[in-house]
Amino acid sequence: MPANYYTLNKIIIAIDGHSSCGKSTLAKTLGKALGYAYISTGDMYRAVTLYFIENQVDIGDAEAVSAALKKINLEFKLRPEGNCIFLNGRNVDKEIRTMAVNELVSPVATISAVRRAMVSQQQAMGEAKGIVMDGRDIGTVVFPNAELIIFLTAEVEERARRRYIELIEKGMDVNFETVKHNLEERDCIDSSRKDSPLVKAERAVVVDNTHLNHEQQLEFVLGMVKKKLEN
Ligand code: C5P
Repeated sequence: MPANYYTLNKIIIAIDGHSSCGKSTLAKTLGKALGYAYISTGDMYRAVTLYFIENQVDIGDAEAVSAALKKINLEFKLRPEGNCIFLNGRNVDKEIRTMAVNELVSPVATISAVRRAMVSQQQAMGEAKGIVMDGRDIGTVVFPNAELIIFLTAEVEERARRRYIELIEKGMDVNFETVKHNLEERDCIDSSRKDSPLVKAERAVVVDNTHLNHEQQLEFVLGMVKKKLEN
C-alpha cells in the first residue's frame, strides 16, 4: 500500500488501556507508519501534575486548581527522540516520568476541571483527523466517534517488568515492587473515578500484547487500520 494511501484517507485512531501496557509506543510507531500525528495524553496530565508539585498547588482546593490551570500552557514539539511536551515553554519530557509525578498524577486526573481543560485541547488537536491519540478516555470521551478504537492491555506482571526496565535504563533508582504497586494503584484510581473512568468503549477492539513484540503488535494494528480504510 503506498504511504500516501493513509494520508489521503485520514482517520482518528483512539488507544486506551491500563498503565504501562505500551500505549504510547504503539501510538508513536503507528503515527510514524501512517504519517499521522501522535499524542500521548498521559503526558498532559503528567505536566499539569508537575506544575502542581512545583508550585505547591493544593489539589483539594478547587479555586487554587482553577487559578493554576489558567497559568498552564502545554505544547507538543517533535524532537529527534519523539514528541516532547513543553510546560510553559520548558521541555519537561524527563521530569514528568519521575516517581513523584507517577504517585500524584492519577489523583490529579480525577479532578473534573483538569479533565475539561485537557479534553478540549485534545479535541482541537484532532480536528484535522490523521491522528493517533492514546490515554484512558480517548475512545469514550475525547473521540467517541473515532474510526478505530483500540483497548490495549497486558498482564500486570509483564507491564510492571517493562516499566521497571524502562526506569532503570533511564538511570532511576527504583524497586520492582514499588513500580508494580504504583501501576496497580493508578489502574484502580483510573478505573473507579467518577469522571471519565477507564473503561473499554463499546466499539473498542481489545488487543492483549502480553506475548507480542512491538513489530507484531504494529503489524496487527496496521491490518485493522487497512481494513477500516477499505470499508
Ligand atoms: O498514560 P500515562 O500512564 O502516562 O498516564 C498517566 C496518568 O494520567 C494515568 O494514570 C491517568 O491517571 C491519567 N490519564 C487520564 N486520562 C488520559 C490519559 C492519562 O486520566 N486520557
